[in-house]
Amino acid sequence: MPFSKLYIENKMAKYDFLIVGAGFFGATCARKLTDAGFKCLIVEKENTVGGLAATEEKDGIMIHKYGEHVLHTDDDVTWNFLSQYDTIINVNKYVKCFNGNKYYSFPLNMNLFNEVYGTIYPKDARELIKKDISEYGVEYKRNLEEEGIYKAGFKPYMLTMKGYYEKLFQEEAKNLSIAEIRDLNTQFNYSSGYYQEYYVGVPLNGYSTMIENIIGNDIDILLGKDYITLKDRFNKLADYVICTCPIDKFCSYIYGPLPWRTLKYELKDFTNEGENFLGIGTVRIVDPNNALIEMIEHKSIVPTEAEKNYISYVTVDKWNADKIGMFAVNSEESEALLDKYIAFVNENFPNIIFGGRQGLYRNISICESVKLASDLCNDIITTMHSS
Ligand SMILES: Cc1cc2nc3c(=O)[nH]c(=O)nc-3n(C[C@H](O)[C@H](O)[C@H](O)COP(=O)(O)OP(=O)(O)OC[C@H]3O[C@@H](n4cnc5c(N)ncnc54)[C@H](O)[C@@H]3O)c2cc1C
Repeated sequence: MPFSKLYIENKMAKYDFLIVGAGFFGATCARKLTDAGFKCLIVEKENTVGGLAATEEKDGIMIHKYGEHVLHTDDDVTWNFLSQYDTIINVNKYVKCFNGNKYYSFPLNMNLFNEVYGTIYPKDARELIKKDISEYGVEYKRNLEEEGIYKAGFKPYMLTMKGYYEKLFQEEAKNLSIAEIRDLNTQFNYSSGYYQEYYVGVPLNGYSTMIENIIGNDIDILLGKDYITLKDRFNKLADYVICTCPIDKFCSYIYGPLPWRTLKYELKDFTNEGENFLGIGTVRIVDPNNALIEMIEHKSIVPTEAEKNYISYVTVDKWNADKIGMFAVNSEESEALLDKYIAFVNENFPNIIFGGRQGLYRNISICESVKLASDLCNDIITTMHSS
């Protein structure tokens, strides 16, 4: 940990901003506001920084605690900001879908269409998908199933998507929103990387170190403190609060919990299976009868000479208030509930601003979270400096 100054609780210092959560959103806000001359305190409930992107090194392998994370954006400003805090290695995310004892390429690209349809040229794959769209009547794309067939055709959808998303969201694909796969674009090319943005990569020293570097030595941070249980005391320490904890939890679930989905990660030693086992960073287990939803081979994410090999077994976990909400569920009901919570906070806590993946109840990526945090801070800085 590079942090040199730790806030001492009974010192009763006064801060301009209390920032709840040391994930990318909180760390970016703290850095931007500190650089603009404001005094910030970060409160993080875990004993380490990183949030959902947290990493830790084990025997020379960077373990991605909550699934493989790869940065991806087209935004120069976000990329240049992050690049100041670690060297970013130019690697993409690589994913295979496992179904019926076979690997299928993913995301939706020519490798997959070639494996499933036998098509070689993009125009032939386009034709077959068009045929399925018309045969299955999915022009209007009212749910995830129709969107999946629209994007990939029936067979590729069945082999790579249906079982995976039904396990993840514990709901039939026909009842899921198309928004759950909004970022999944059909790529009529043979490039195998998951992300197609201009900037793609992974920080050399892991995401937690990158966040430690963003926070640096000039921002006070309290680790292992749950803001919610101590919020009356914490709120007195600062004029404003930027909060990345779940908005429904902050409001003591007065309207009931927002629907969250969460996963469980179990790290297993695969060293005895040889140099590598999966041969790829992420394998999605699509078969609905298999309790596993993903396997992650951490040493395949970024090439390493490490001798050991660790694989995370990922299963769907039943969410409760003590668990991290990893995936927001897009539906009209959840949007209506979210609106009620936003209205409640605006009315009762005018000095508290919610942000980040859990605070906004949005399945955003790291770079989206950083961009939203930067935009928010630019607005705050402009407003405060002009008043
Ligand atoms: C399985 C999975 C895979 C993903 N893969 C990618 C990927 O490949 N690329 C990508 O760009 N993004 C990916 N993401 C998204 C990425 O993890 C998030 O966008 C990013 O980590 C969000 O950062 P954040 O700061 O907004 O929120 P979070 O990381 O959720 O940070 C919130 C912080 O607040 C803390 N906190 C919560 N409650 C309290 C409290 N009461 N008191 C104090 N602290 C509190 C939490 O401990 C946490 O540290 C993935 C997400 C998941 C779930």
